[in-house]
Amino acid sequence: MPTFPLTESPVETCTFRGRHFFIKRDDLLHTTFAGNKARKFYYFLKNDFEGINRLISYGSPQANSLYSFSALAKLKNWHFDFYVDHIPSYAKAKPRGNYRAALDNGANLIEVRNVLTGRDTNTYIQEEILPNYTDAVFVPEGGRCQEASYGVNILAEEIIAWAKENNIDNLNIALPSGTGTTALFLQKRFVQLKKTFKVLTCACVGGDEYLKLQFFELCSDQKFHPTIMEAGRKYHFGKLYDNFYDIWKELRTETNIEFELLYDPLGWITLINYLNQTPSNTNPIIYIHQGGVLGNETMQPRYKRRNKS
Ligand SMILES: *Cc1c(COP(=O)(O)O)cnc(C)c1O
Repeated sequence: MPTFPLTESPVETCTFRGRHFFIKRDDLLHTTFAGNKARKFYYFLKNDFEGINRLISYGSPQANSLYSFSALAKLKNWHFDFYVDHIPSYAKAKPRGNYRAALDNGANLIEVRNVLTGRDTNTYIQEEILPNYTDAVFVPEGGRCQEASYGVNILAEEIIAWAKENNIDNLNIALPSGTGTTALFLQKRFVQLKKTFKVLTCACVGGDEYLKLQFFELCSDQKFHPTIMEAGRKYHFGKLYDNFYDIWKELRTETNIEFELLYDPLGWITLINYLNQTPSNTNPIIYIHQGGVLGNETMQPRYKRRNKS
């Protein structure tokens, strides 16, 4: 295992809708292992797992985590089995985005829709798959696990060091959530290190109440929980919305940065709303670019087809 330091990601400045923002470019951490999945999986990269030669997880065949898991497995020289409900035939015929890149890294995708017998994929893996292996490490969907704190703490400490260099005391850190793992462990680290930094996040998957539940599952003490910015209406994860594509394009034009299309649009929409609603909050804001732009290879054609019809 070569040593693999995740070098500090750069911080850039930009202006959007007339307000100044700092952008933490975690998408630029490394060429193949970047974004918040690299932070969350860093524990598995850095530590030696004696006797382990297989990584097992599950999720969507277009998930950002699929690609990052495959990059991790490749760096570790592990087999990688990724369980999915089902792979659409058009995707199989012409793999793109995260799915294609994961296949290139040697990922083995296994469809389980027909063998679940009423169980969810996680339960199926626990009952039917893991007992067959003594050489496998299992990571829950999206990297939602305590081990994720290892790499997210490093991210928190990078932000603290950067803020100190720039004489910033009351920083707001904004990032959209899926499982909420990154936002939670960031806020927890700031509180542990007695920083008054406030983590602002939004629920891209399953709504605000569900996100709160996920925070509680990872950490029962509410004083470590991030602030949830409200979306004002319900959005379904992975669906297409005109205002998502509009703000994504506007961001690209104004900031010259390519964000991703699943999480970032809602991240920015809720952040702009939040700032409009709290005009007294003039604290500097750092938005974390958590990677995932490879997924645009499938999301952008979907938006283009929709806008034509
Ligand atoms: C996975 C992912 C998220 C969600 O991260 P959580 O830690 O699950 O909240 C957000 N943005 C991008 C680009 C991601 O890939």
